[in-house]
Amino acid sequence: MGNIESELYKLIDNTQDYIQYGMISDRKLPEMMLKKEVPDSLEKIAGEVAQCSRCRLCEKRKNVVPGIGVLNPDVLVVGEGPGGDEDIQGLPFVGRAGQYLDKWLDAIGLSRHTNCFIGNVVKCRPPMNRDPQPDEIASCLPYLERQIAIIKPKFILTVGRISSAVLAGQEAGIGRLRGRTYSFRGIPLIPTYHPSAVLRDPSLRKPVWDDLRRLKAELEEIKNVH
Ligand code: SF4
Repeated sequence: MGNIESELYKLIDNTQDYIQYGMISDRKLPEMMLKKEVPDSLEKIAGEVAQCSRCRLCEKRKNVVPGIGVLNPDVLVVGEGPGGDEDIQGLPFVGRAGQYLDKWLDAIGLSRHTNCFIGNVVKCRPPMNRDPQPDEIASCLPYLERQIAIIKPKFILTVGRISSAVLAGQEAGIGRLRGRTYSFRGIPLIPTYHPSAVLRDPSLRKPVWDDLRRLKAELEEIKNVH
């Protein structure tokens, strides 16, 4: 009888809540009826990106390029967007510039296969390799922010004007941005030139090498502290 009575009171209680607030308190619902939050993951983000039509870049893409690499990387490398080769393969930095980037990373003991993650501020190729537009970046950036929250990089290396300006939060060309360490969501960030710019202009090799050496030194400092 006691049980029936208490169930009856619960029912009346729930009905009153529903009438008054239009909802039933979670505390009063059986466990299995509560909506469980699915934890965020790189796979979940990749799945959402594959279906994404938040901006016009979805119209001409062959493949989305969500990014690739390891969890808890020493360095997250961020470029502006996929190019032609990346669009075909669905992988970031796989063309000539990507191979050059791999050489830069190798020179300071880094690799996308062991201790880096590589991505872009937009996940779909801008037509004719034009710059991604501010509204496209704004639509896509939440994916990168979620990826960063999951992978937890120790350091960020932005390559090129757009990713550097967006993540450093500074409106300036890469020539003015580089040479300093910034912070994105509390993670130290060093900007440098894009590998394709250095392939076009070899005089940029020296500043890039300076940036990479500084990245290596600051990364070592962080690793020694932890
Ligand atoms: S660029 Fe980003 S926001 Fe735009 S369609 Fe592709 S995944 Fe979606």
